[in-house]
Amino acid sequence: MTQSSIVIIGAGQAGFQAAASLREQHHTGRIVLVGDEAHAPYQRPPLSKAYLFDEETGDVALRTDAFFAQQRIELATGRRAVAIDRAERRVCFDDGWTLEYDHLVLATGACNRLLTVPGADLRNVFYLRTLDDAKALREQLATARSLMVIGAGFVGLELAAGAAKLGMSTTVLDVSDRPMARGLSKTMAGVISREHQKLGMQLRFETRVTRLLGDDDGRVRGVETSDGQILPAELVVIGIGVVPNVELAASCELAIEDGIAVDERLLTSDPQISAIGDVAAHVNPYPHGQRVRLESVQNASDQARCVAARLVGRTSPYEAVPWFWSYQGDLKLQMTGLARTGCEEVVRGELDSAACAVFSFHDGRLACVETLNRPVEHMLARRLLATRATVTARQVADPSFDLKSLLPKPGAGAAVR
Ligand code: FAD
Repeated sequence: MTQSSIVIIGAGQAGFQAAASLREQHHTGRIVLVGDEAHAPYQRPPLSKAYLFDEETGDVALRTDAFFAQQRIELATGRRAVAIDRAERRVCFDDGWTLEYDHLVLATGACNRLLTVPGADLRNVFYLRTLDDAKALREQLATARSLMVIGAGFVGLELAAGAAKLGMSTTVLDVSDRPMARGLSKTMAGVISREHQKLGMQLRFETRVTRLLGDDDGRVRGVETSDGQILPAELVVIGIGVVPNVELAASCELAIEDGIAVDERLLTSDPQISAIGDVAAHVNPYPHGQRVRLESVQNASDQARCVAARLVGRTSPYEAVPWFWSYQGDLKLQMTGLARTGCEEVVRGELDSAACAVFSFHDGRLACVETLNRPVEHMLARRLLATRATVTARQVADPSFDLKSLLPKPGAGAAVR
């Protein structure tokens, strides 16, 4: 397969990494990386953090143009794949271009879930996914005095905390009863709420937005909530999650299960097509073999490396330990493993401080570790999960117990990533 022609659709984190790893792993054949955005591959994480608030942080490109030329990666931007002819192994683009492949990698990512209430299309109402979104928002943030964020997910809170740190009056609304309800333990959500409130952020939970109100110029001036209140707003950002970009895969009848369904080698229901990154629904060993779709740089990059290795003949199942970070103002939140409902949550450190950890156990086994401002413990937690070390709630709760002692001794045979 090392001389075959590989086409990658989606030039985000996963698509870029797949192309780069193929060359690192000595694939000599043609590699074409095609994306529908106007930009060469770039990093999304800074877009809700430093890029918005720090004038120095303007460059988010993953590599220079010279890199793609040197690596013989044919990068085509501004082109949208609209159909796949699986029998002929051909991709068709919106401008009539076609590309033939020996193997196709779908890395089409995700796009923002839209808020479908009246007024959501007013001026000064933004979403945040792309570099173009961030550029437009950055301009408004430079002069706005207040910010209203709809959705207390990771991206919304990063943005809100950055604005609050600069002294902007900041409000975050969410329908659920706590921040990051989908991905974070109740205990850690409580700590994060408290710390954000200390910074002056207003958090309103169990609040549904019913309408956005505009002025005569079509600019947003307020947000109406289901309890009938109208909250004044001059700049609104909607961050209510994402949906996977599965249309292309669905149009050629690949199996879809929330995202594009892939097996443990990240192959779709067509053995000539792989799917990776935010769009791929894979069976992850860490939540005990459940199918999940993860939205993280780690997942996008590691899945890309796994597919590249398979395409050069080194097949192995995808089983990287999931991990994620979210930097919200001065809070460095890091997670590893995957939280599930019904977990026992055990605290390590002092919940009253802004440096603590929550270890979640499912059926007595360590499932997930969230750390706040404790990066060394995060790294240790990744190793505990990767080595499947036996950890008990009692050991975690005892601050004098050295969790490092639970790692296999060097040379004991277990892989540590
Ligand atoms: P994407 O980055 O979405 O790339 C997919 C690309 O494919 C897009 O450019 C899309 O336009 C293109 N595409 C789609 N359909 C087609 C088509 N038919 N033809 C051609 N091109 C197509 N993760 C973390 O781990 N930590 C963080 O702190 C963090 N912060 C984030 C902050 C923001 C603002 C955002 C938006 C995300 C953040 N993430 C973070 C998530 C992380 O960036 C994503 O998980 C990662 O970018 C996923 O990479 P991907 O390549 O799968 O998808």
